Amino acid sequence: MKKGKKLYEGKAKIIYATNDKNLVIQYFKDDATAFNNQKKTTIEGKGVLNNRISEHILSNLSQIGIKNHLVKRLNMREQIIKLVEIIPIEFIVRNVATGSITKRLGIEDGTVLKEPLIEYCLKDDKLGDPLIAEEHIIAFDWASKNEIDKVKKMILRINDFMIGMFRGVGIKLIDFKLEFGRLKSNGKQEVILADEISPDTCRLWDSITDKKLDKDRFRKDLGDLIPAYTEVAKRLGILHEQSNVSAVNVTKLSSVKRKKK
Ligand code: 5GP
Repeated sequence: MKKGKKLYEGKAKIIYATNDKNLVIQYFKDDATAFNNQKKTTIEGKGVLNNRISEHILSNLSQIGIKNHLVKRLNMREQIIKLVEIIPIEFIVRNVATGSITKRLGIEDGTVLKEPLIEYCLKDDKLGDPLIAEEHIIAFDWASKNEIDKVKKMILRINDFMIGMFRGVGIKLIDFKLEFGRLKSNGKQEVILADEISPDTCRLWDSITDKKLDKDRFRKDLGDLIPAYTEVAKRLGILHEQSNVSAVNVTKLSSVKRKKK
């Protein structure tokens, strides 16, 4: 597989063309942004951890029949993924109220929801990814009713699977964001999951202490983001080394593991 020109650079990832028109390379950067790009920094090792954690979760989702864009991880920072037409909606799934919903609706932080709540936000940085209703999606043709119904079914299965997976390693899945895309193959079109799933896109709290093991460590200036992401990777069985792996060690670890293969 030959890496071609840069097609797109986002806040946390870069997409490169390949010699296969249906596949692209996704590069995980160390950049962290929050509050619609108003807060920015670089956290060495974050991209490596997100690449590994996302690969682990998406591979597991494939095994339970959730089609997604991951083809394979190439190296410590890159994955080959399927090129899709992204549906311009962020699907937010909440099991416990925290973050924007608590401010927007005055709900007490940490309120456990009776059922998972799915919210829709328009993917538009200039507008600050505004919350929209399902009716907006249909009215403005961002997705069809059939596509939304399929996505909702997939989301609930993904949520069930991930709640169980994280519960098994002592982590509560509080909420997360997903994106989906249209994949054309053999004249047919289907909607697949087309997003990373990592502590950058999920809220993950330790089951006993409620310690935040996700990007809120950066958003809320809690510090120790790399040890928290490393803890998630270790609990999921991705990293087996000593606790509190530093960013530099994460980088070394990834290259050592790759050489062993
Ligand atoms: P909230 O709406 O409370 O800010 O976020 C809800 C969940 O969706 C959190 O897990 C958050 O990480 C995720 N999320 C929402 N928007 C984005 C986004 O633009 N980028 C990333 N990485 N995660 C997002």
